[in-house]
Formats: sequence, C-alpha cells, structure tokens
Amino acid sequence: MNNNFNNSVIDGHVDTVYQLPKDKRDFSIRSEIGHYDRYRMEVGNVQAALFAIYPASTQNRILKKLDLWFKFVSNPKNNLEQIKRFDDFDKVKSSGKRGAILHFEGAGGIDNNLRLLRISYHLGLRSLGLIWSGINNFASAAMFTGSQNKSGLTEKGRELVAEAQSLGITVDVSHLNDPSFWDVIEVTEKPLFATHSNARVIVDHPRNLTDDQIKVIHENRGTIGINFAMIFLNAIKPNMYDYNLGFDSIKNHIDHIVDVASINTVAIGSDFDGADMPTCVKDCSTYPQLWEYLLKNGYSKQDIEKISHANLLRVFKETWK
Ligand SMILES: [Zn+2]
Repeated sequence: MNNNFNNSVIDGHVDTVYQLPKDKRDFSIRSEIGHYDRYRMEVGNVQAALFAIYPASTQNRILKKLDLWFKFVSNPKNNLEQIKRFDDFDKVKSSGKRGAILHFEGAGGIDNNLRLLRISYHLGLRSLGLIWSGINNFASAAMFTGSQNKSGLTEKGRELVAEAQSLGITVDVSHLNDPSFWDVIEVTEKPLFATHSNARVIVDHPRNLTDDQIKVIHENRGTIGINFAMIFLNAIKPNMYDYNLGFDSIKNHIDHIVDVASINTVAIGSDFDGADMPTCVKDCSTYPQLWEYLLKNGYSKQDIEKISHANLLRVFKETWK
C-alpha cells in the first residue's frame, strides 16, 4: 500500500451519533458493526468528519441530539476534539486526536427568528443542511419516492441562508429538491457544499445532482461529497442493493463530476452509519484501499489529496470565520 502521500480524509457526512445508540455500540471499542469508531478512523486515516445531528427537524430533537453529540465528542475515551475554527484542523492533528465538526441535517427545528441558529453557531455549528425530507419553514426536500414538491426556498429560507453564511456556517445543498437548490444558488454569497450527493446522470435519483447543478457548484467554488450508499452509486440496478459493487462504482461518479466540472469539485461525504454500503467500503477503515484503487486508475496523488480533504478544506476556509 502506498502511504507516502498525505491522503488524510475529511468526511463530509457521517451519521454515527445517530447510529451508535441504535447499535448499542461503544465508539471507543473497535467493532465490526457499523462504519465508524476511533480505531477504524485511525486505520482509514480519517482526520475529521462532519458528525450530523439527524434529523434536526424539531427544536426538541435538536436539544436532545446536541446533548448526545457533546457527550460523544467530550468522552475522553473517544479521542475526539471539536473543530470550530480553520486552525483547529492542524491543532487537532498534532494532538493525535480526530476532529468532529457539528452539522445539522435539516433546519426544521430552527425557529423563524433564527435564534437557535445563532446559539448553535456559538456551540460550534459549522455546516447546515436546510432540510432532510418533506417541507419545512425554509425549504423543500428531494423526495426518495413518489412525486416531487414543486416549491423552493421560502422567504425565511432565504434569510436562513444569508444568516448562516454571515455567521460563518457552510451551507449544505444535499437533500434539497431542484427548485430549492436553484433558489439557494440565487442567494448564496459563499461556496456551497453538497455534503453527500452523487451524479444523477449515472443514477437517476432525485437525491443525486444534475449536470447543471454540478456545473454551478463548480462555478461557485463549492464541492460535492461522494456518497457511498448503494442506492446512489449503482447505475445498473437503481434502488436495489448490490453489496458486490466495486470501487469502480465510486470512481464512475468521480469521473463524471471531473468531466462536467473539475477535480476541484469532488470531495467525500460517505453517509457512513446512515446507509447500507457495498462491501468494498464496508466501513471507514477502507479509505486507503479506495485511494490505492484511484491511484492505479488514472488519478494522481495530488488529485487524491484534493478529493480526500483539500477541496473541502478550501470550502471551509472560504465559508468559516
Ligand atoms: Zn442524508
């Protein structure tokens, strides 16, 4: 294995805080269940991840999950440190710990006065998805099945994007329906992050991005986190689970985004602990094998640095304060 280059990973979307209690597993103990623990982060060279509060759909849920999130990050056995400032990436790395970035998946629990948004910023919220499913006060989501909502951002949604960006919170466009996506494009003043979405040309799913969306994220200097969930990866059998999908299924989406936009538009947003993955990416310890595969199949070390962490760092640098 080639470990001579800096292939440390910043993972753009992880649901571990949601999944740990469901699995009754302990993050500080190496497990074969689920996708993330402190030891598998080390093997995979994951330096930091956006650990989502999911779903952040009501105020009560946000409070309950924040309590859980801070217990998770502050437990010394978990070897984590919260990242709030851009400088923290280096500090955490030199401390030997792994970074945890607070992300809300959905903003439905935020009040119309945006008080909870500002308070959450002070608690370290650095990335915000506007919605997970359905419709909330701010935006409409891409539906997994059935007909799609035609509504886009509300007036409050526009205010939410502006306030989040002026505070220094990265705005996440994954899970938005198409009208909401384009409304965000109209109002955004900062690079955007599609935390966990793939290319719709390859898998025709409303959670994946059209070529025009990929292009505009590139023009906006944003980036797209490649999602490893089987339903978003597999071109042959959409919505069917195929555990035997190989690294080529991930590479297909990377290739396409590079073709339509550029290598600067590709990041990682695994969706680990939030979805079923093919065996080749059975958990976060498999990242080095993915990099090795890409290295053997047309990608340079510099390309892999961009995909694994540098593109996302660029977006954080331009959106955080
Ligand atoms: Zn999601």
